[in-house]
Amino acid sequence: MEKQIDHCPHCDERLGASTCIDSNPKLQPGPGDLSLCYYCSEIMIHDEDNNPRKVVKEDLEELDEETLELLSTAQDQLRSNDED
Ligand SMILES: [Zn+2]
Repeated sequence: MEKQIDHCPHCDERLGASTCIDSNPKLQPGPGDLSLCYYCSEIMIHDEDNNPRKVVKEDLEELDEETLELLSTAQDQLRSNDED
């Protein structure tokens, strides 16, 4: 089965690839996993069908401090890459 290319729920850019934050190149996001859009640096969460959707306040409330910090650091890095 051909993998359908997802689109960012925030900016609608095509998401052709993903990279795991802990640099395991084989790991791909699954249901319930969070990801950041490379283009707009907004946070997405993968639903039961593994389609990315926008995070809502309730999703973020379930995250621990460490994860929130990691997301915020990664967002800052994506945004600063943009300015180069
Ligand atoms: Zn985006």
